[in-house]
Order: sequence, then C-alpha cells, then structure tokens
Amino acid sequence: MSHCFPPSANNVSTQKNNLIPKKVGVFVWRAKRKRLPVLVELDKRGVDLNSVRCPLCDDTLESVEHTLFSCVHAKVVWEKVYNWWGNLTSLGGFDDAFDGKFNTQASILGAKIWQAVQWTTGYLIWKNRNQKVFKNSSWSPPMALNEIQVKSYDWVAKRCKSKKIEWHDWLNNPISVILNRNQRHEILTSYWSAYDNDMAQMELNEQRCISC
Ligand SMILES: [Zn+2]
Repeated sequence: MSHCFPPSANNVSTQKNNLIPKKVGVFVWRAKRKRLPVLVELDKRGVDLNSVRCPLCDDTLESVEHTLFSCVHAKVVWEKVYNWWGNLTSLGGFDDAFDGKFNTQASILGAKIWQAVQWTTGYLIWKNRNQKVFKNSSWSPPMALNEIQVKSYDWVAKRCKSKKIEWHDWLNNPISVILNRNQRHEILTSYWSAYDNDMAQMELNEQRCISC
C-alpha cells in the first residue's frame, strides 16, 4: 500500500479544496505567495522591527517557509501528522505540503482528503504561531496533533458527501479512509469537470489582476 502514499503523482495543481473551509484555502494561497505577515515580509514592506528572527526558536530569520515548515516547532508537528498517516521515512518540503499535488493513481478523493489534512496542519501551525506571539499561549506537539485530528475530521467528514468517514478510522487508520476505492465515480467525474472549470476561471482572473 505504501506505493500510493504520499500523494505525489499527476501534477493536478489546485488552490481550492472543497473539503475544508474557504479561509484555509485562502491561507494556503497567501502562504504560497509569501503573503503572510511573518517578520521578514513585514521588514521588506518597511515595518520597523526590533528583530526579524523567528520569535519561536530564535535560530534564523522568520520567513513563511520557516515558520510553517522548517522551524523546529513546526517540524515536530508535521512529523506527528505524517506518523499518524502511516509513517514516512522522511518529510517532504514546504512545497510538498502546500503545492496541492494530487495522486490520481490511487484515489482522487483520497488525495484530496490528504491535502485537506496537510493544509489544516499548516493553517493550525500559523494560528498557533500567532497565539504564541500575541498571547504567549503554549501549544505542545501532542496538543497540536489532537487539534489537527479533531479539526480536520470535523471539516472533512462533514463536507465529504460521497463517503462516510468514521472517527475511529480517521484517528487510528486514516490510510484505510483514503485508499478505499469503493467510490461513486459519477460524482467524482462531475466534481472534477466543475472543478477544472473553476480552476481555469481562477487562473484567468489572476492573470487579469497581474496585468492590470
Ligand atoms: Zn523558528
């Protein structure tokens, strides 16, 4: 089964995933374009700061990639999430987590679910970073994993119309959730054709924005 995971084949890129709230998609869109107010980006925009070092680890500059992925505080959370999803020998990079590749060889729906989990992870790492910086609240890795599991289940199970996802499976054997081929293909086919149209429109709008 490991050959199907992590999703890596068929570069069907997207900036939208209807299994999670729009705000998470917007967050990912911004993260990929480095449009999050991390210290390095604020500095580039002329904000007067005492330091641009990561406020969590103080090891290096706080870039988007660092705070969401490379920072020791983020990395330990990603490791826990990857372990929960069947354990990988090594973590991918920032782009693997956020570029939205789907593995359509295994299961489109499954890859979409896995992407939703990854995006939820990034979203909650960012939320945690803000709470730590502005409210000095703590967020331990076990707490983080628990929040990601609960939140992603709440979002995905509710929105996934073509498949009933049990909490027990989600928690203990999520791979079984995404590798189940018993799906209603008509629904997926119609979903993807609507989805492709949406994506084409989004890209067109973005090009228009850039050119104006
Ligand atoms: Zn850091």
